[in-house]
Amino acid sequence: MSRKPVVVIGAGLAGLCCARQLVRNNVDVLLLEAESEVGGRVRTDLVEGFRLDRGFQVLQTAYPEASQQLDYSRLRLKNFEPGALILTQGKTVRMSDPWRRPQQLFSTAFNPIGNLLDRLRLARLRWHVSVNSIEQLWAEPDSTTLEYLRTNCGFSTDMIERFLQPWFSGVFFERDLATSSRFFKFIFRMFALGDAALPEQGMGAITRQLAEEIPACALRLSTQVDAIEGLRVRLSTGEILDSRAVVLAVEGPEGSRLTNGLIPAPESRSTTTLYFGAPQPPITESLLVLNGDRTGPINNLCVPSNVSPAYAPAGQALVSASVIGSPTQTEIELEYEVRRQLRTWYGSAVDQWESLPSYHIRHALPAQPAHFRDAGIPQSQLADGVYHCGDYCESASIHGAMISGRRTAESILLAWSQS
Ligand SMILES: Cc1cc2nc3c(=O)[nH]c(=O)nc-3n(C[C@H](O)[C@H](O)[C@H](O)COP(=O)(O)OP(=O)(O)OC[C@H]3O[C@@H](n4cnc5c(N)ncnc54)[C@H](O)[C@@H]3O)c2cc1C
Repeated sequence: MSRKPVVVIGAGLAGLCCARQLVRNNVDVLLLEAESEVGGRVRTDLVEGFRLDRGFQVLQTAYPEASQQLDYSRLRLKNFEPGALILTQGKTVRMSDPWRRPQQLFSTAFNPIGNLLDRLRLARLRWHVSVNSIEQLWAEPDSTTLEYLRTNCGFSTDMIERFLQPWFSGVFFERDLATSSRFFKFIFRMFALGDAALPEQGMGAITRQLAEEIPACALRLSTQVDAIEGLRVRLSTGEILDSRAVVLAVEGPEGSRLTNGLIPAPESRSTTTLYFGAPQPPITESLLVLNGDRTGPINNLCVPSNVSPAYAPAGQALVSASVIGSPTQTEIELEYEVRRQLRTWYGSAVDQWESLPSYHIRHALPAQPAHFRDAGIPQSQLADGVYHCGDYCESASIHGAMISGRRTAESILLAWSQS
């Protein structure tokens, strides 16, 4: 019986789910992570009492994999209110989810964005994504999300440009809604069937919970892998590790580098989140705020401490402003422009806001354009004993990364059971 471990490279969601599934099946695992902590893109920094997620993000409670793999009660999830506040032409317009907030049906039906027919189209879309299974939605014809919203759903330009575009630009990290309509429908279903939530102590609590079952001796942090040569893994220190199997659970571009292009490098979608500490929150509700005018750098904004007070020290509020794409300005110039836009929305109170660290995430998501899954989900086995997993293999989401990790572990176990 071989005592060589399965070496899993990368302790983000995919690597953690893969390693945990193997550990649960009594497999010797060695999880290697370049950073000094687990979590990858799902981490939270504690700065001056503020909890700063590494880029604004939420957990959709309806994600099937997350709801199976995570203990939601221990995460003490705090939900956003369904719907959004849209800042447009100097006004704030409320767009609620009338199925879950029927008392706001009237204000939503007659708000100035889109028209009554758009409300019916929204109802039809909600019905469509709710009654069809996830598998059925993925099997439907694909196009860009913009094309789908315009042509298949028939939404008015106003409804798209002032509501749907800023909302989903903030999900896909691209303004043109060129992302696959199949993925859009999957995400829309998650919004329809569940809540957008934050763990009380920050998004990093998700990956910390997944890491709990990995024995300390099976985790090596601050350990950068430089190359894989068959079943041998070379670290940046020159150390060579022999393995029974290797799992690449790194971001798509890094996977491509480590396999000399065997994994095609996905295009990266980028985002920047700027955080501010405020004496008073600019809004009092747990709602997402969307920029309905498509001018200025900010796409969306929220106050995480309204959702979970533990995100800010007592008596203060945490404000998070999201910018889509890679900014062309310097960090200082971007913050100047963001503050200028915030001042037009919330006035001179913004001058009292303290600047907290901002996060530019160059590879926030792999691009998932129309037809990206026409050939199906890639095989998890790349070569004899060499496997991969990650969001780019399934879908650019917490759900996608988690399910990909678990399935890769199951592929390894299946291959062994058949050999
Ligand atoms: C700002 C932002 C907001 C998001 N918002 C949402 C959201 O609201 N909802 C949602 O569902 N999804 C969201 N996502 C997407 C989701 O977070 C990712 O899809 C998911 O976390 C990817 O997990 P992963 O395990 O595939 O990759 P990663 O988390 O990137 O994990 C890869 C790991 O590999 C490590 N690594 C890389 N190279 C090496 C090496 N050579 N040696 C050793 N280790 C290495 C990295 O350090 C990292 O820890 C968001 C992402 C970002 C960045």
